Amino acid sequence: MSKSEQLFQQAQNTIPGGVNSPVRAFKSVGGTPVFIDSANRAYLYDVDGKKYIDYIGSWGPMLLGHNHPAIREAVVKAAEKGLSFGAPCPAEITMAETICELVPSMEMVRMVSSGTEATMSAIRLARGFTGRNSILKFEGCYHGHADSLLVKAGSGALTLGVPNSPGVPADFAKYTLTAEFNNLEQVKQIFAEQGADLACIIVEPVAGNMNCIPPAPGFLEGLRALCDQYGAVLIFDEVMTGFRVALGGAQAYYNIKPDLTTLGKIIGGGMPVGAFGGRRDIMQHIAPLGGVYQAGTLSGNPIAMAAGLAALTEIRKPGVYDVLTAKTTQLIEGLAAVAKEVGIPLATTQVGGMFGVFFSKEAQITNYQQATQCDIAAFKRFFHLMLEQGVYLAPSAYEAGFLSIAHSDDDLAYTIAAAKKAFLQLKA
Ligand code: PMP
Repeated sequence: MSKSEQLFQQAQNTIPGGVNSPVRAFKSVGGTPVFIDSANRAYLYDVDGKKYIDYIGSWGPMLLGHNHPAIREAVVKAAEKGLSFGAPCPAEITMAETICELVPSMEMVRMVSSGTEATMSAIRLARGFTGRNSILKFEGCYHGHADSLLVKAGSGALTLGVPNSPGVPADFAKYTLTAEFNNLEQVKQIFAEQGADLACIIVEPVAGNMNCIPPAPGFLEGLRALCDQYGAVLIFDEVMTGFRVALGGAQAYYNIKPDLTTLGKIIGGGMPVGAFGGRRDIMQHIAPLGGVYQAGTLSGNPIAMAAGLAALTEIRKPGVYDVLTAKTTQLIEGLAAVAKEVGIPLATTQVGGMFGVFFSKEAQITNYQQATQCDIAAFKRFFHLMLEQGVYLAPSAYEAGFLSIAHSDDDLAYTIAAAKKAFLQLKA
């Protein structure tokens, strides 16, 4: 029995499913999750001593690669001064100013400790600001696990087939309306019927929790126009896309200005961090300025701020996004080429440093319905064939892939060659 197998058995005695976040359990792909001992650059090393090229990057944060020296040193230096103060510290201001500079739609920002807290708080703020109860989200989009957002959710909820979670009272869920991603006509219809009750639209501007699905031309523009027309707040959930698809996030990439933005992952450099912010007149409704309550014992934690600032300092250096995007394109084009050569129907997507690979005959995947109709059995086999060869992909067909600038040409070439072998075995 491998060490990972032993640890997985042991873990299941005291941790539900043996993991602290569901997708990690490999439930949808089967088999034993790999327990990680350490990570460096583009690689993960498991407890059995096996090395993997990592395309999850801690689910997004590791844009610079694992264990980046600048981030590690910033964390160590900050730790020498104490781990948490429960009082304001200067690094929080530098962080807020940096975020507001890099994402200009964010005029004020509040730090939290996870993406879930960021979206939950942004929704409460949108409701408090508008005095309306209903919210609109899209099928297959995941915005963390707050009650009102676990309706037709993506990511782990979709992977496990429970997009509507038990434990969410129907009375709460009734305020969450859902529409099909990329279906602007449907959103128009909903606004025509219920626009006066809608506090906000929350959207992943590039959907990354039902695999990776970019917005159709005009979709985000249409959402912006509807929110303006009906006085609803437009929230871009950029927990995943922020600082990944471009330095200024998807809003810079597509040139759309949301009212509120949620961030996470990359801004923490690997530490538990989230943030929400946006229009000053809306943010001023947050306590202690306004009545909308929101708080956090570890919010603005000095170690997390140091890690995040070090990450942002590195990624804003010239050329980072050109390199990241070029590497991602190289991978995606390589995978598409070997799939074609072997005769495996594969659709691919890419926006900046995130990508999607769908086992599908469709030329384009644009929504949740299509994403769930892909050949999931083929994905499962592919996942394990790649894992055996030392390539670590997300253990679910409903997650985006993430590259880092630490992935070398050799890493990418190895991955494409491994994929070809896996495709040949799928054909056999
Ligand atoms: N929003 C989006 C778009 C996400 O992808 C995620 C997590 N993957 C979240 C929110 C929740 O963030 P967290 O897991 O940090 O709570």
